[in-house]
Amino acid sequence: MKTTTVLVVEDDNSIRNLIGTTLKSHDYQYLMACDGKSAILEASTHNPDVMFLDLGLPDIDGVQIIHKIRSWSNMPIIVISARSDDDDKLAALDAGADDYLTKPFSIVELLARLRVVERHLSNQTLPANNSAIFTNGPLTVDYAAGCALINNEELHLTPIEFKLLTLLSKNVGRVLTHNYITQKIWGSSSDNDIASLRVFMATLRKKLEQKKGSPQFIQTHIGVGYRMLKVD
Ligand code: CA
Repeated sequence: MKTTTVLVVEDDNSIRNLIGTTLKSHDYQYLMACDGKSAILEASTHNPDVMFLDLGLPDIDGVQIIHKIRSWSNMPIIVISARSDDDDKLAALDAGADDYLTKPFSIVELLARLRVVERHLSNQTLPANNSAIFTNGPLTVDYAAGCALINNEELHLTPIEFKLLTLLSKNVGRVLTHNYITQKIWGSSSDNDIASLRVFMATLRKKLEQKKGSPQFIQTHIGVGYRMLKVD
């Protein structure tokens, strides 16, 4: 049995059972909730490691649930939303959700997302979490010195690119929305800011991934935002 306990919050019986069966067959421990009230109760009494949260629940709005849980817990939250709930999905990520699945999703996708947050969880147990130096595969970011290296070779980053890299690395494994990033970097999130973000992200990515054999560090989520991947 794995030690990860997953709380599944979903009002649709068939989806909830499907997720439960999948988790069980992959040796995860899990808890179920079919509405917001029981989700908060389960989260607060059983302290699960990860939560799958359907945004469309009968009683409490999913985004409100995230706000509530974030007031006491950093547990990774993966939201599950229908494609028509795109605005809710973005609001959920901005409220502190870590990742999302769009319905209909595959079991393979669900398990992949779970592995991403599990890797993130195992990182958090390292004392280096608040360290001034971040490493991810061949990448090193020295926050204090304000520089970044790939295989010990310094990257020539502009101040904005470095800020972006800092923000992504401090949230490694988490999807950050365009809105969240532009607020952090420029303090606003107009269409212009989002257009600039695309440009800076493209140049940053080019610098990070230019070397032959460099892994992909930054994942683009079209219409949503970006995520730094944890590289093995
Ligand atoms: Ca639902």
